[in-house]
Amino acid sequence: MLNRRALLLSAVAVSACQTDKGIGHTTASSKVRSEPRPMPVLFLGHGSPLNAIEDNAWSRAFKRLGRELPTPRAILCISAHWYGEGTRVTATDPPPTIHDFSGFPESLERMTYPARGNVELAERVTKLLPSARLASDWGLDHGAWSVLCHLRPAADCPVIQLSIDASLSGAKHLALGRALAPLRSEGVLLVGSGNLVHNLKDAFGRVRRGDRETPDWARSFDADAEQALVQHDGAWLARAHQEARGRTAHPSPDHYLPLLYAAGAADASDQVTFPITGFEAGSLSMRAVRYDASS
Ligand code: ZN
Repeated sequence: MLNRRALLLSAVAVSACQTDKGIGHTTASSKVRSEPRPMPVLFLGHGSPLNAIEDNAWSRAFKRLGRELPTPRAILCISAHWYGEGTRVTATDPPPTIHDFSGFPESLERMTYPARGNVELAERVTKLLPSARLASDWGLDHGAWSVLCHLRPAADCPVIQLSIDASLSGAKHLALGRALAPLRSEGVLLVGSGNLVHNLKDAFGRVRRGDRETPDWARSFDADAEQALVQHDGAWLARAHQEARGRTAHPSPDHYLPLLYAAGAADASDQVTFPITGFEAGSLSMRAVRYDASS
């Protein structure tokens, strides 16, 4: 649950936002293939909930990315904000929009994302992940809808969410992501939503001090993760958040672990691109990762 301190983030100018337009964005529509091309896999840095309602570099980058993606049959989102006991998958249709924060503008508190759910897909997920259980007490939290409102502004694709079991190792999260990979060939877009560097205490301190610098530990963790992602180095990714610098980047691993689901669902032959990079509030990495099946 975020509180009004996060409002401070709205005063922070977006820094160092870059986009990699044109790299690795070939889509199924531009290819002649007899078999369905696996859907891309995404990891998105969602940052402040205010990105849902602000017209800024991040929200514009989410919109641009959405226009570049093929249309999915459905979306499965693994959000940092559904982190707790067990692996659960939403079986709600339509899924309620959850406002898991307080002290934000009323327009954000009242915002809804009216996508349908897909109970059949949720049941399919429990077949792929035998430990997963259907959940009727969750819908779409802001980790999902604050980015999907830009990626699919018409809310025209069914969306389900998968929770993150806090008791599992990085290797187990990676394995769960791997088990979800068949969904890509069934037209399902897998979206992990967190932040590749997420130390709110550091970020809020910088905002209060008016310090927009990105600290070395944040920049180097983000850069090393980039290298590991490009090399499909699952072993590094599975342990990075538990090592000394990783614990600084992630005092709690909730915003890192969605990355492991995306990396797990990727194939070693996939092309890896970073459609969004940069930092919000000094130290929050907004890096987005996109995996595309090789042609
Ligand atoms: Zn978050």
